[in-house]
Amino acid sequence: MTVADVEHIIEELAPVWTAWDQDNVGLQLGRRDQRVSRIMIALEITDGVVSEAIRKRVNLILTHHPPLFHRASSITNSDQTGRNILALAQNKIAVYSAHTNLDFTRNGVSFVLAETLGLEKIRFLSPLEGKLSKIVVFVPATHVEQVAKEMSEAGAGTIGNYGSCSFRVEGTGTFKGTAESNPHVGERGSFERVREVRLEMVAPTVSVRSIVEAVKRVHPYEEVAYDLYPVSTPSANFGMGAIGLLDRAITLQSFLRRCKQSLDARSIRYTGSPLQKVKTIAVCGGSGSDLLEMAIRAKADVFVTADVRYHTFHSARERIALVDAGHWETEHGILQPLRQRLLDAVQQLKQNVSITLAQISTNPVQSI
Ligand SMILES: [Zn+2]
Repeated sequence: MTVADVEHIIEELAPVWTAWDQDNVGLQLGRRDQRVSRIMIALEITDGVVSEAIRKRVNLILTHHPPLFHRASSITNSDQTGRNILALAQNKIAVYSAHTNLDFTRNGVSFVLAETLGLEKIRFLSPLEGKLSKIVVFVPATHVEQVAKEMSEAGAGTIGNYGSCSFRVEGTGTFKGTAESNPHVGERGSFERVREVRLEMVAPTVSVRSIVEAVKRVHPYEEVAYDLYPVSTPSANFGMGAIGLLDRAITLQSFLRRCKQSLDARSIRYTGSPLQKVKTIAVCGGSGSDLLEMAIRAKADVFVTADVRYHTFHSARERIALVDAGHWETEHGILQPLRQRLLDAVQQLKQNVSITLAQISTNPVQSI
């Protein structure tokens, strides 16, 4: 298995097109043709992670936070990031980062956080919008199954837990070929009527070009008629944050105790009344303060996130119980399920690759 193969597996789990525009996700360092037999997963690269990877003779480190989040103008030994990158390169260790694309996917950072806190009926707090298109293709009835299959394989027709979703309606297509035409049905120069199907499928806008190419490969017509529409429907598959329910209302105080225990958090900052009853919980792993208003609009009793500023606590008061449980604490839960999903994919390909979690903690924050 090569770095490129691992890249492909991860991008199936967390597609790069869903990432935040300003993010820097994907292969950060390494050669795509390099062989991989040992993978290590860590929330981020630290000097401790680098030493552990070298000691364990790892070929690839998968991180959540990209080491080159701020694009570097030089990589030298004058700063810690540079020293880490140089040491990794010298030891032929590749680094791949799945950051906001791992946040935004179903079963990503926020969904795992919601599950860890015992929430049920989990859904996205803010589904991704404006990244989907509708592809409508006019196909002779004889070829509709083949075209639909090809479109699905190229990435169209996924809605929530369902694949191959399409809508089909029969009608009559008409055309009249010019003297230069070479029609699949009928004669050039004569007006033709053909029984056709209007086949519709939704797809990520980023995949539209390759889906259209796939259609053209199997569609029998010389000129394929198709329409593309931007779709503003919220995505069922990708979004920011998560919201769910506790099985029964409990006091904020006992919910906070649950947070501390299940997230391995030594201290938690919050605003709210300890004895108020809470049941609807919104969460966003990492720095999720931007979703505060969304959590209030969704009528959540509590919003759990990290890196909350003083004035944000002020604006939450009397409106929602706002909880800052820590950045590492709200994100590290993704590592074990990520390892399991990667392992399942690798085993399905019958590859012998070991996947471990970094033993060293990368959390730089201490509490007393
Ligand atoms: Zn983070």
